[in-house]
Amino acid sequence: MSFEYDDQNIFAKILRGEIPNQTVFESEHALAFNDINPAAPVHVLVIPKGPYVSMDHFCQQAKADEIEGFMRAVGEVCKIVDVEGGFRVISNAREDAVQEVPHLHFHVIGGRPLGPILTKV
Ligand code: 5GP
Repeated sequence: MSFEYDDQNIFAKILRGEIPNQTVFESEHALAFNDINPAAPVHVLVIPKGPYVSMDHFCQQAKADEIEGFMRAVGEVCKIVDVEGGFRVISNAREDAVQEVPHLHFHVIGGRPLGPILTKV
């Protein structure tokens, strides 16, 4: 499939500094900040700085240094926040997964027991 990036999405505005955020970690290729509506005591969003809509877009088209930088940012976030008891990484893509913001992001969620990942149908 083809991917079209809308540079007016909220996370693009955060990257441009047009909307404030609570930064947890920043590097050349990634920014991590607290979710505005946290689902758990730890709820950090990790985003690549490049214009990627979703995980499949990123994994198909990002350069190796962008991929490494993004994944390393997740590792750095896990050192900064308290997820010693465990955590979950979620990335929603498109309608079926109810992706609200069309800029790739990982939710790093933890700080309490999280329960099963999905309700079985
Ligand atoms: P999605 O449903 O796209 O996977 O998740 C989008 C996430 O972005 C939600 O958890 C929502 O709370 C968060 N979010 C939406 N707008 C903002 C914002 O302006 N600032 C921050 N920090 N988080 C936001």
